[in-house]
Amino acid sequence: MAKKCLDVTARLRPALRAFEPYDPRFSPVRVNLSANENTHPLPAGLAEAVLDAVRATSLNRYPDPMANALRDALAERHGTDRAHVIVGNGGDELLFNLLFAFGGPGRTVVTCPPDFAEYANFAAMCETPVVAVPRDAEDFSVDAEALLAAAADAALVILTSPNNPTGGLVDRALVGRLLAETEALVLVDEAYVEFAGEDESLAPLVPGNPRLIVLRTLSKAFALAGLRVGYLIADPQVVDALGAVRQIYSVDVLAQAVALTFVERRALLAPVVADIVAERERLAAGLSALPGVRTWPSAANFVLARVPNAHRTWERLRDEHSILVRDFSSTPGLDDCLRLTVGTREENDALLDALSVLTREES
Ligand SMILES: *Cc1c(COP(=O)(O)O)cnc(C)c1O
Repeated sequence: MAKKCLDVTARLRPALRAFEPYDPRFSPVRVNLSANENTHPLPAGLAEAVLDAVRATSLNRYPDPMANALRDALAERHGTDRAHVIVGNGGDELLFNLLFAFGGPGRTVVTCPPDFAEYANFAAMCETPVVAVPRDAEDFSVDAEALLAAAADAALVILTSPNNPTGGLVDRALVGRLLAETEALVLVDEAYVEFAGEDESLAPLVPGNPRLIVLRTLSKAFALAGLRVGYLIADPQVVDALGAVRQIYSVDVLAQAVALTFVERRALLAPVVADIVAERERLAAGLSALPGVRTWPSAANFVLARVPNAHRTWERLRDEHSILVRDFSSTPGLDDCLRLTVGTREENDALLDALSVLTREES
């Protein structure tokens, strides 16, 4: 039989044709500060507890699709009950499911770029129009009146606190106004809030505000990016709606067991988070002292820095110093910006040393 050529693009749903596989082309580097992971060593005792949990897990059985043990532990962390918690295969799955469930043609989602690129990607996949309310070019603050106007007939508003990649916290009063003055669902993405302090979380407001949804993840402060576990704190009706459309086994038995182990022992991680916060301030101060470098205050585990000739600097960091950071210099609003994950003291020193050479040479 003659081999016919296959026009996959023509067969794909039109909304999906522009997407390409996500391949960050990981190249091994000495210091990887590109993805906001927690690069600190695991606290004593945690690795052993993980091995015990893995040994006690039966791989021949399907996972609990409700993840009840994990949800109970997460609910306990937030002073609520399991009805207010849903877990996902990373926060990413939950973001997708939110747009899948509550978006769609004719329903808008409002974002405040520069922010997390996945919001716009998932919206596009779910054929959900995006209304962007760009942040201030100087300080990345959100224009409250513009946001309220855009939210007036939106299905969903997404605010990120601390924002990735700019680092700032959301204005609580603005969230209050969105809930009081619009009918939209309001998602506050708190992937990094542990580095700002639990007092900054809006999770305690969820029980009194059924349209408020808070996203959390174990990928950042909990040092479990590879495990893929995130969760939402939301009204029980939202939890049920998302529970009805999710991939039922997306959080596997190992992920549930290891996540539970970490959540129960979260006190062990507090010194690691405290060290990252201290290192963040040291890194930011070191960066600000370099010629031609500007930074913005960050409440997360990364620092956004504007550096001379950022793309070239990014390349030279990788090729000459084996240090990988994230290049945002071609993102609108982030000219010459790099996002630097806060690493260990040694990693941050390596980055500062390299940048002190490069910023001089690229000025
Ligand atoms: C990292 C991140 C997430 C979630 O990441 P997962 O690894 O999928 O849990 C969500 N929002 C923002 C802004 C992030 O940076």
